[in-house]
Parts: sequence; C-alpha cells; structure tokens
Amino acid sequence: MVRTRFAPSPTGYLHVGGARTALYSYLYARKHNGKFVLRVEDTDEERSSEEFLRLQLSDLKWLGYISDEGVEADTLKDIGPYGPYRQSERLSIYREHADKLLKEGRAYYCFLTDVEIDLQRKEAQRMGRPPQVSSPYRELPLKEAEKKLSNGEKAVVRFKVPDLTREFSFVDLVRGEVKFPSDMVGDFVCLRSGGMPVYNFCCVIDDALMKITHVLRAEEHLSNTLRQMMLYEAFGYELPQFGHLSIILGSDRQKLSKRHGATSVKEYRENGYLPEAITNFIALLGWSSPNAQEILSQKELVEQFSTERLNSAAAVFDEAKLKWMNAQYLRALPHQELWARLEPFFARAGLKLPQDPAWQDRSLSVYKTSIETLVDAIEHYRPLSQDAFIVYEEANEVLKWPTTKIVIEEWKRQLASQSDQYISEAQFLTVQDTVKNICKAKGKELFMPIRVAIVGKPHGAELKILVPLIEKKTLIERADIVLSKI
Ligand code: GLU
Repeated sequence: MVRTRFAPSPTGYLHVGGARTALYSYLYARKHNGKFVLRVEDTDEERSSEEFLRLQLSDLKWLGYISDEGVEADTLKDIGPYGPYRQSERLSIYREHADKLLKEGRAYYCFLTDVEIDLQRKEAQRMGRPPQVSSPYRELPLKEAEKKLSNGEKAVVRFKVPDLTREFSFVDLVRGEVKFPSDMVGDFVCLRSGGMPVYNFCCVIDDALMKITHVLRAEEHLSNTLRQMMLYEAFGYELPQFGHLSIILGSDRQKLSKRHGATSVKEYRENGYLPEAITNFIALLGWSSPNAQEILSQKELVEQFSTERLNSAAAVFDEAKLKWMNAQYLRALPHQELWARLEPFFARAGLKLPQDPAWQDRSLSVYKTSIETLVDAIEHYRPLSQDAFIVYEEANEVLKWPTTKIVIEEWKRQLASQSDQYISEAQFLTVQDTVKNICKAKGKELFMPIRVAIVGKPHGAELKILVPLIEKKTLIERADIVLSKI
C-alpha cells in the first residue's frame, strides 16, 4: 500500500514550494489508492508555533489536499493508527532509538564543546579538509560516558558514520541514480545535549514507523538523504523510495524568495487567487501532463500524475501565467459560485451589494471578463455599493460650472419619469440625449455632471455599464446629494 507524507515545519506560512510538495504527495497517494499522511516537524521549539501550524493546515485544506492520517486541519488532533503525528510528542520514541544505537555502539555520547568543535572546523578549513568533527569520545565505553553524564557533563549523541570508504547510492524517483561517497559526512548529531532530536534522526524514525513508502520532498533535502540512509541501515528499517523535487526559481532565475513578490499560499489566497488555479499552476512546476494539457482539474491531475513525468530541471515560477490561469478558472465558474467566492472580499472591503441573485448574475456578466483575481472585482463593484456614495474633491470644479445644476436636475427628472426599477443601457443613452437637448449642454458640460451625479467624481468606470446596475431610486438619491452641494 502506497503511503506518502507531507511533513511541514510550523515555522512560517505555507510556501508555494511546500504546497507543491504536499500536492505531489497527495496526488501520488490518491492515484495509487494509498494514504496521505500529515506529520508535523516541530522539534525546533523556538521557531515553531501553534499559530503557524493552524495557518499551514488551513491553507492545505483550502487547497484541498486533505490528509487521511496525521494532524487534522480543523481540530489539530491526531487521526490514524501511527500517532502521535507531532514530533514534539514523540520524544520518548526518539530517545529509545538513540539508546538502542548507543547500546549497539552505533552511536556515542560526545562531550566536545562548541568552542572545541569550532577550533576543529577552522583547523580542517586551514588544511583544506572537509569540515568534519573528529571526536575523541568515539570509542569511549558507554558506561564511562554515562558516568560523566551523571556528573552533570553535557553531551550530544553522535551517530558513528559506518564505513568511510563505502559509497551509498539510491535511485531517486526524479533524478535517477544518486551516489554519495560516505566520507561526505562526519559523525553527525542525533540528539542535542538537551535531548532534543535533530531533523534527520526524527525523519527516519517517523517515516519508518509511519510506514511511509514514498518520500517526495524538496531538492534541498537531497544531501540529508545520505545521513538518513545510514540511519535506516543502522535501525534495519526498509528504505522508502525518495523523490527530490526540482528547485523553484523566480522569473530572474534566482531561487524563489520574498524578493519576487508573494511566495506564501496565504498571500495568494488573500490576493484573490482560486485554490483550483494555484493547484493547477504548481502541479506544472516540475511536472507535465502526458498529453501536454495546461488546464487540469484536481481529478485529472490524480488520473495523470506519475513520478516519471517529474522533471529534475529547475522550474520557473511565472506569476503572469498564474494570473492568466486564475482568470481562466474564475471565468469558468458558474456565477452563483463565483459570487460566493467574491462575497468575503466584498465584505472585507466594506461593500454593500444587492442580495438579489438576478442582479448578481447580471453584474458578473458585465465584469467577469475584466477581472483576473477576486480582488480585482472590488474596484469594479465599489461604485455599486449601496452606501458608498460620496462626492469627491475632484468633483468640486464641475460643481462650479453654471450648467451643472440644470443638467443634474434634468437628469434626475428624466430618471424619475422611467418606470422600471433599473434603467437599461439603451434607456440611459436616451435619457442622456434628452438631457442634452433640453439643457443645451454637450461634451464635458453634459457628461461630467452626470458622472458626478452617479459616481461622485468626474472620471471612472464607463457609465453605460454602471448605470444599468444601480437602482433608479439610488441614482435619484445620489443626484440629490450632489445637488445639495451646489
Ligand atoms: N520538515 C521538513 C521541511 O519542512 C521536511 C523534510 C522532509 O520532507 O523530509 O523541509
């Protein structure tokens, strides 16, 4: 049975790269009717927080990558038979594993101080050797080490790197055969002196005990894999299959970072991107559909996903493409659904828009093609908000023109003579013509006062689009407000 996992560290927001790792792990599990596990790697006590965990899980849920096992997004409680799923709650498990290695002589207590280690590193650098620790405590019998510990001395538990001449190799799902000379690493720390385990140690124990079969993760973890393979061997655990995903670059081909703009899922979510579009977009960062499809639903991704099509070359995060994709998804949504997604954005911007579904539908037919993100809709709808009308300072000059008052009065009169709740585009153009003829005003003197009477300023959105979306009685109220200022 295929078991994949996503193992976020709750030390920040969910990064788009993290989301991609989660997506691929999720797709692989779904495709093979396996299980997708969510494990929390929170052994970095200082940087981890419950709040980041909650936010990351909520973003994953929003994206739709729901785990079968692990820490659950809403309750933050464990689900599944291999818990606890937070590393901070598994310390006794790590301790037992460390004790086992110590007893077998595969690990040892190392009493080197930071200063001593630093000196060793500097010396190695000077001699042009790799900066590896050579500990005088490597062969110290366990009993003696324990005596030192009981005298209050501090020690880390170091793994005894087995055979310095052997080569370690494995077949990576993305990059094929990867070979490491084992002298690439020196004896490495498993437990810090306070007893806190380090990432490589926990990761191996958890992946093994949680029966993970496929580990898909970022390329930056490739160098950790050597240490992890040594630990798998020492514990006698079966190696999972690893796939190290290509790095993601910004458009300038530098590693994607804050400098490039939004990098967290949270930012894209707040900027009005749809989860379907983000999923589609990140799926194609390092993977391609066998039939070169660009727009793929989550269902199609599950059907088509395979590790064979993962690309080891760096992927470029093209924000313009993401925006384009977002617009495609947004425009394909049924209006009712699109409205439901827009509502929280309108509410946050303080807009009060008609609850009438027919109006919502009509307005979306007008604006849908001019928005690429949900946030884009706010400025289009702002003039339609029911209590948003103010007369802006930019209108002052128009208000001083001698013809303005009569134009707006006539505009109001013509509106009042219309019988429908809304006036159509054609009716609006007729009304405008009538005002023009009666008031003998044309050009700026006609259009600007009418515009001020509708949106409170002499510039802005096209009126023939806007007017049919504003109730006639609201248009009259707005005209009255403007007239009161003249
Ligand atoms: N907690 C690690 C990270 O956030 C996960 C590494 C792994 O997948 O093995 O990068």
